[in-house]
Amino acid sequence: MNKDFIELDGAIGGGQILRSALSLSMLTGKPFRIHNIRAKRSRPGLLRQHLTAVTAATQISSADAEGAQIGSQSLSFAPGAIRGGDYEFAIGTAGSCSLVVQTLLPALLHADQPSRMRISGGTHNPLAPPFEFLERAWLPLLKRMGAQVEIELLRHGFAPAGGGALVMQVTPSALRPLHLETPGPIHSQQATALVADVPGHVAERELARVGKRLKWPEQALKGIWLDKQIGPGNVLLLEIACGEVTELFSSIGQSGVRAERVADQAVDQARQWLHSGAAVDEHLADQLLLPLAMAGGGSFSTTHMSEHLSSNIQVIRQFLNVEIVCTQANERILRVELRQG
Ligand code: ATP
Repeated sequence: MNKDFIELDGAIGGGQILRSALSLSMLTGKPFRIHNIRAKRSRPGLLRQHLTAVTAATQISSADAEGAQIGSQSLSFAPGAIRGGDYEFAIGTAGSCSLVVQTLLPALLHADQPSRMRISGGTHNPLAPPFEFLERAWLPLLKRMGAQVEIELLRHGFAPAGGGALVMQVTPSALRPLHLETPGPIHSQQATALVADVPGHVAERELARVGKRLKWPEQALKGIWLDKQIGPGNVLLLEIACGEVTELFSSIGQSGVRAERVADQAVDQARQWLHSGAAVDEHLADQLLLPLAMAGGGSFSTTHMSEHLSSNIQVIRQFLNVEIVCTQANERILRVELRQG
């Protein structure tokens, strides 16, 4: 066994373990081996979305990778230098483009030249950040940290059809620490129900439910009817813009699930966060960790220790000498602080 390889157990979480390891490996130049990839998931091993992240990372860092096949539960990855430039990656299914973006962006910020990257697949998936979450919640925080990055949605892609696409432009830039203790005062609230080839009353019922439960006025409720060819698809987005952060809660409509239930899923998440007073919700929390670790420090308050936050902390600690301290501030707030180790 080559003792220079970092060894990871993929069974401590899902695809994020692998994606974070790819990002960190490219950034640090440290090779890694991972076993038991997504071992506890119903379809274990690499799915198309994970494989695209691996092949894209291999390409931009001229890496040696072994085990990069669909279904594979083991992978070894040894990166070279990160090269910017023009890239195009197709997931080939409705797998999430956002998760591939999040794998590659840290490396491209450290590339030798600017990059332009087109990724096709799903843009609005269950259990992954929808495009608007990247655009309005995650990337604005990275830009505050110094990242020069722009992203554009070219076409919506819903499961199971996929067919969506986005483009990201990155100029190499260093990240500065960021401290987020509270969300700041609320500036605006907007609910958007997107529907494509789904009966129009679905959007109306989702928005009515949001208006009733969150007491948002009619002008804060908007339905968007997309081209039928894009569908079938439906997503409800709740955007809450505050002084320090913008949060975006979402719920994907699925056949057999009532519109009111879809709305309730997003509303419940929004209410839990609003009630907590924490700066960021559980999704931004696990997705901010790696950029803050790259910046060498920062802090935020969040609602709780999620499985993704906990497993991401474990992966980051294996690659970087960074101290990550989590303290329960009160029953609704967990404080996370990162310092150079
Ligand atoms: P697996 O199928 O193994 O669970 P995966 O590759 O689909 O793996 P996860 O490892 O579960 O993905 O990681 C999903 C990521 O998507 C996490 O960072 C999580 O915070 C984020 N995420 C999930 N739902 C949302 C949402 N509604 N809004 C924003 N981010 C989300």
